[in-house]
This record gives sequence, structure tokens and C-alpha cells, in this order.
Amino acid sequence: MATGQKTNLFGLDPSAMRDFFVGLGEKPFRAAQVLQWIHHYGTDSFDGMTNIGRALRDRLAEVAEVAAPEIVLDQEAADGTRKWLLRLADGNCIETVFIPEEDRGTLCVSSQVGCTLNCSFCATGHQGFNRNLEASEIIAQLWVANRALGRDPRGERMITNVVMMGMGEPLLNFDNVVSAMRIMLDDMAYGLSKRRVTLSTAGMVPAIDRLRETCQVSLAVSLHAPDDALRDQLVPLNRKYPIAELLDACRRYVSAEGRRRVTFEYVMLAGVNDSIPQARALARLLSDVPSKVNLIPFNPFPASSYARSDRQVIDRFRDVLMDAGLMTVTRRTRGEDIDAACGQLAGRIEDRTRRSFRIGPRGASSG
Ligand code: SAH
Repeated sequence: MATGQKTNLFGLDPSAMRDFFVGLGEKPFRAAQVLQWIHHYGTDSFDGMTNIGRALRDRLAEVAEVAAPEIVLDQEAADGTRKWLLRLADGNCIETVFIPEEDRGTLCVSSQVGCTLNCSFCATGHQGFNRNLEASEIIAQLWVANRALGRDPRGERMITNVVMMGMGEPLLNFDNVVSAMRIMLDDMAYGLSKRRVTLSTAGMVPAIDRLRETCQVSLAVSLHAPDDALRDQLVPLNRKYPIAELLDACRRYVSAEGRRRVTFEYVMLAGVNDSIPQARALARLLSDVPSKVNLIPFNPFPASSYARSDRQVIDRFRDVLMDAGLMTVTRRTRGEDIDAACGQLAGRIEDRTRRSFRIGPRGASSG
């Protein structure tokens, strides 16, 4: 997104923006003004920044830019879910999804071009991995979507919540993801509360602790199995950070001031992880973690070998968890007709990983 030597102001979080202006010999308060122009008002030209003097605007145009990725495809599903395919400066494409609901509008944001984790049920993993997204490319997804969606009849933004649940593992791109989230949380920019920004991880234990110390947004964890043997197969990262260590990190996260619960995501795979004994085991596992469970009906994609659990099986599984006192909801499948549902985001990327570098399932050759 950066052309030549110009600084792309999209990628600067509030403190980096202040450093940038101080570096130009300007007053730090310019940072708040420019953040507001770019993110609150959706401006991408310096000419429109009317409370900034002509001389500084000209200077900015010389040394900086506000460069958004190009929208290649803009699709709307029958249920109102909308998906954008965005082309980055290097030609890679990523996907961003807007999910409208009665009481909120959620944007699902990508953090990497592809993913290294190779979870067996996820389309993104099957695509391989190319690179981390820059902070500018992460926040630009929110900027582009806000612009495209406009405002509701009361003049409010359509996007009220952000989930870092698109392509990639956000905690493997820690610094850029945190910079982008700081812009989401900043009052001059998007002003979202920490409750309304959720980061989902497959279980990067040390990075969960770092996040707790750095930027305490809501945490979601992709659990998907009640025991290590099964989780090793579904989420190969479990071989590095097994369930007990992961749950310890979750307990530390919620015990930090102000955090309430961790959301555990659990994809429902027919005959794999959806039995009643597995529901009971899951309930026991989570009995001492302040938690909420999101059951996600599996979304198939070409080359996937799993099937979605039947509705009654999912309901029964949910009932076992609820009877054990766990708050449980079944996530409604949204945007399936445009391949925008969980685990279906693939973008268009060139896989640069050597397959042998990936963590393979136990007992199998990797990749
Ligand atoms: N890497 C992060 C962010 C991705 S979030 C993480 O693992 O949490 C995307 C969510 O959708 C995760 O919970 C993921 O496990 C789930 N998911 C992936 N593939 C899916 C599929 N095919 N059907 C349903 N859910 C899926």
C-alpha cells in the first residue's frame, strides 16, 4: 500500500501518528486531527482536511499518503452478509465480511494473507500462507467497509463490532494487529469499546499473556475438541500449546481487571467432536473458566473431508453444556451463498510456505 518512500498514514496508531508529526517538527495535536479525518470522516485526501493549514497539507501530500486497497469484488448474500475481496499493493487478495444483525453490525477482519496453522477443517489453512498484513492493511478493511456501508437512517455507523476472525492467526502478527486495534479503540478514530473488539486465536499461549498486558480486548479461543488427542488432529498448534496450558492462559486473561469471559469457539463436525460424552468432557473442562461457548456448524469448502453435524445433534450438544451451567449459543451460519461463512475465507494468494515447515497432525508427515 505504500508507494515510493511515502508514509502510509493508515498504518499509524495514535502514538505512531504523534511521533510522525513530531518528526516533521509539528505539534502532536495534529495526530488527533488527522486520525479523525481519516478514520472518523473517511477522508483520504489531504485537501479535504480543512482545519489543517495549506502549508502543512502540501507538506503532507509530499511525504505521506492515505492509500487503501482496491475493492476487486463486492458481494452481498441473500441474508444481507456482505463480503469484499480487496487487492493489496503486492497483488495478494484478502477478504473482509460484514454480518448485519438486529442489534449490531459485525465486521470480520483478516490479519494475514493465508495462515500457517493448517487446521484440518479450515479453508484458509488449505490455501497456505504468504505473509503478515501490515497494520495499514488491517485497519483499511474497517475503513473500506465503513465507506461502502454508509450510515444507518439515524446517522450511526453500520459497524458496531469488530472480530479478528477473518483469514489468519492474529496473534502470529501481534504488533500489527495491536496497532490496528488501537486505532479501532481510539476515540478520534472509530471509538469502539474493548468489549466490541474481539480477537480470536487458535491458542498462541505466550501471545495471549502479552495481549493481556498490552491491549485487553475481548478474547475468543478456537477450542474445537475436549481432549488433546483430538485437538492435536484438528488444531495442530495444540501439539505446542496443549489444552491445560491454553486454559491457564485464559484464566489469567479473565482475571485481569475488567475482563469478564472468554468465548470458546467449537466447530461442530459430524461424528468427530459432537458426541454427548464429548459435550460432558467439554463442560468439565470449562467448569472453572469464566466462559461462553459458541457452537459453529461446520461450513464445508472444496477439498474438505468433514460433514456438518445435524441440527438435532448440535441442539443436544448445546443442551448438555447448558445443563452444566455453561452459557452456550449456536452461531447462525451467515453468508454461505457467497462463501463468507466461518472457515470459508480464502482470498487469492500465492502460497509461499514450504509445506514441510507447517505443523502436521501427530503421526502424519507434515502438511
Ligand atoms: N486463527 C484464528 C482466527 C480465525 S477465526 C482462530 O483460529 O481463532 C475463524 C473461526 O472459524 C475459528 O474459530 C475457526 O476455527 C472457525 N472455522 C474455521 N474453519 C471453519 C469451518 N470450515 N466451518 C466453521 N468454522 C470454521
